[in-house]
Amino acid sequence: MRIPFQNEPFTPFNDAGNNRDYDAALQEVRSKLGRHYPLVIGGERIETDRKEGSINPARIKETVGIVSQADVGLAEKAIQAAAAAFESWRYVAPEERARYLYRAAAIMRRRKHEFSAWMTLEAGKTRTEADADTAEAIDFMEFYAREMQRLALPQPLTALRDEENELSYIPLGVGVVIPPWNFPLAITTGMTTAAIVAGNTVVLKPASPTPVIAAKLVELLEEAGLPPGVVNYLPGPGSEIGDVLVDHPLTRYVSFTGSREVGLRINERAAVTQPGQKWIKRVIAEMGGKDAIVVDSDADLELAAESITAAAFGFSGQKCSACSRAIVHEAVYDTVLQKVVERTRQLVMDDPALATAVLGPVIDEKAYARIQEYIQIGKTEGRLIAGGGTGSAEGYFIEPTIFVDVDSSARISQEEIFGPVVAFTKAGSFEEAIALANATDYGLTGAVISNNRSHLELARREFFAGNLYFNRKCTGALVGAHPFGGFNMSGTDSKAGSRDYLQLFMQAKLVSERY
Ligand code: GLU
Repeated sequence: MRIPFQNEPFTPFNDAGNNRDYDAALQEVRSKLGRHYPLVIGGERIETDRKEGSINPARIKETVGIVSQADVGLAEKAIQAAAAAFESWRYVAPEERARYLYRAAAIMRRRKHEFSAWMTLEAGKTRTEADADTAEAIDFMEFYAREMQRLALPQPLTALRDEENELSYIPLGVGVVIPPWNFPLAITTGMTTAAIVAGNTVVLKPASPTPVIAAKLVELLEEAGLPPGVVNYLPGPGSEIGDVLVDHPLTRYVSFTGSREVGLRINERAAVTQPGQKWIKRVIAEMGGKDAIVVDSDADLELAAESITAAAFGFSGQKCSACSRAIVHEAVYDTVLQKVVERTRQLVMDDPALATAVLGPVIDEKAYARIQEYIQIGKTEGRLIAGGGTGSAEGYFIEPTIFVDVDSSARISQEEIFGPVVAFTKAGSFEEAIALANATDYGLTGAVISNNRSHLELARREFFAGNLYFNRKCTGALVGAHPFGGFNMSGTDSKAGSRDYLQLFMQAKLVSERY
């Protein structure tokens, strides 16, 4: 017997003991900084001449790890290793595959703060954000393992006399998994373990800013006993090896989470049939968002301000679920704005290794430059009312920034900034607010703060977002409770953490025997 799935609880950091434990984990991880991480292909560790340093975005002088970089030849080798491993892994019983995940989840739970501390140092996550990331990684493994066991049961079919019908889900083959850096443990773990528990093998190309956390996941899977070649760790420049992996005729599917630009490129390239290719490649793509929180005239205004502030500035807005637009009814616009500004001024931006930090840095130099460009654009499109500047030069710190009176067609209302920038837009009515919320190319998350039942029902019907929340923030989806994925240019609505997710990595086979 196994207990039913339940979400991993978050660590309460108002407890001094938990903070001490976290500090100890940080110290332990700090003693391991600067180590070298080779590629892992078919279980073999491969060191390359070319290496990249992964740095702490809060202290850019601190090197978290030195990571070997794959080239085209090694990408080919990784695909071949995954193809070879598939020939045995595909026949491993689903229950056995699930047990690798249960074991990995148990080990991760025991070493929770250690995994989180790596994220604090490599991704700039505060302890609260990092802890939630690790909890979600554990959830994904626990959830997908159970899902695989459910899918391995006899599937319901219409029974016919003198005939036995059986439908089973079988794996696809070799997959390329390209996760993002913003949930470097949770999403990397979810994408990778969903694919393997379904019986596939994987070439994992970690996000360039967070390769060490991905290496820790690969070490964990090895420790849990996963056979060599089932997951191959292939860090390297996306511009050099990305296309090779996607184009390869042995690649059966690509699972991607990241920018719209890269997601669309993958989708287009994967649609081209290569010589020797025997299937239509599947693309699972989770891309951007331009998510709005709508505030109604009769809303709880404290709740509205709390939701906007948390969803806009948590992890410095570097979530595809982040609130980058606040669309507020004119009757309460000034009050909500004032409350959000007050709350924003209280957010402590500091080195996320410190318990007192609420906001850390943005991920890297490119993001730092891009977000500042958008702040300049914002100054021509709206009125800057909070933030706009940078923080300590030791890292890539950008102040939480609020623009007001922004037109919904402005660039900062339409383009994903992926940083701590929110644009306020005034709506004359609730209906107009929903229309404005829908007026982007995306459709990932959204929230409505309202006490008006008919307005909530209208939003339930009309607000076009894959994850729509009422009277709460639009970030923080929980595995199993809030399957996550969006519409339109937000991706293929693949709903991570749902009962539908594993089937994206499988195909159904029917066997009918006449007696
Ligand atoms: N699942 C996360 C949330 O609900 C966002 C994931 C992402 O940013 O990619 O906040």
